[in-house]
Amino acid sequence: MEERIVILGAGESGTGAAVLAKKQGYDVFVSDIGKIKNHYKEILYTYEIDWEEEKHTERLILNADEVIKSPGISEKSEIILEIRKKDIRIISEIEFAGRFTNAKKICITGSNGKTTTTSLLHHMMKKANLNCGIAGNIGRSFALSVAMDHYDYYVLEVSSFQLDGLYEFKPDIAILLNITPDHLDRYDYNLQQYVDSKLKLTQNLSEDDYFIYCSDDEITIRELERIVLKAKQLGFTLKSTKQQGAYITEGKMNLEIGKDIMTMSLNELSLRGKHNIYNSMAAGLAGRVLEIRKETIRQSLMDFKGVEHRLERFIKVHGIEFINDSKATNVNSTWYALESMTTPVIWIAGGIDKGNDYSEIMELVKEKVKVLICLGKDNTKLHKAFDGIVETIKDASSMKEAVMQAYKTGAKGDTVLLSPACASFDLFENYEERGWQFKKYVREL
Ligand code: ADP
Repeated sequence: MEERIVILGAGESGTGAAVLAKKQGYDVFVSDIGKIKNHYKEILYTYEIDWEEEKHTERLILNADEVIKSPGISEKSEIILEIRKKDIRIISEIEFAGRFTNAKKICITGSNGKTTTTSLLHHMMKKANLNCGIAGNIGRSFALSVAMDHYDYYVLEVSSFQLDGLYEFKPDIAILLNITPDHLDRYDYNLQQYVDSKLKLTQNLSEDDYFIYCSDDEITIRELERIVLKAKQLGFTLKSTKQQGAYITEGKMNLEIGKDIMTMSLNELSLRGKHNIYNSMAAGLAGRVLEIRKETIRQSLMDFKGVEHRLERFIKVHGIEFINDSKATNVNSTWYALESMTTPVIWIAGGIDKGNDYSEIMELVKEKVKVLICLGKDNTKLHKAFDGIVETIKDASSMKEAVMQAYKTGAKGDTVLLSPACASFDLFENYEERGWQFKKYVREL
């Protein structure tokens, strides 16, 4: 009998996994507790895949040989508990897709900077004429791409939820950008659980593989002392400590592998801000490991355009610059945004708080923020943190109102920074919609 694969969740990754499984000849069933979007239904019809929505029928699920869980589904949901009771293996879509491709895989994870670094490295690899796909949390799911495309290389953005279901999956290069508390709600507010899941990417690395990590990141360093890694390690740091990997001396970035050093002036990097030096170093090191020509690495770090909603310099209106950093959904990414500001800031923040600790950014806020506009359904935590600290604090209940208030309180030379430090689901569909609305109302000023 055919092996039965049940897929929970019919979003980007679930639908992708279903198509791949079907093409590989499995008996496939997709079950989603919510409504499935029409776009995905059409794909399921096209490939003649059985599905259900708004329910999980145990009879059709608990007879699976293996279950692929979409990253959005909680470990604690009833159906997952039932599946675990039956000892059916639950894997992630990345684990599944990895079985059906021989492409070299460069996997990027971390709390912040994944999309930026993934896109930057993909840009570099394309410039180097490598036949390279980009997938994971970005664009197509990895599974759908494996089903449809033929790449020699993949750059994969992997979120911590996707890492949870990895067992045999092995990257050729694993990049861990940083580990800072985010999504702690999903890990019982237990940082160690979150850290463990981030490190799962390294569990199968062999002597021939590479692990690229931030050697300024305390949590990463602490973990590296605890675990045994076979892979070759390349660290990156903003300090001037010479090491295998990347470091800075006199305004220059050094990428050192073996005895070979490539240097590049920091002024030449197209992406601004300290966090982006890290991202550029990580991508540059991966480029070196892949033996991309130094000149190509340099060119791509110089001409990369950045990704929308990430510290995106939008436009100036009457001398006030508007920056869309809607993707900053945690305090750490907002820290880097504020850190890179060189003018007085009118800061638009708020949304759904995932257990934020604002003390980390208190100093930067004191130093740089002149007006705080709280844009969320419930702004109490922001008020509690910043009342009496920031001179002017206002509340807004829509993006239109927030942009108007920001504009009115702004003066020539100021920067209006949308960097919410929170998720967007209270007032918006997602962070993209939040960023687009911001740009729309700025354009209308
Ligand atoms: P991710 O895909 O991990 O969410 P993004 O590249 O989409 O990361 O960036 C998310 C937010 O984090 C943006 O506000 C961006 O400016 C900021 N950011 C980017 N790189 C880093 C980094 N290395 N460290 C901290 N924050 C970063």
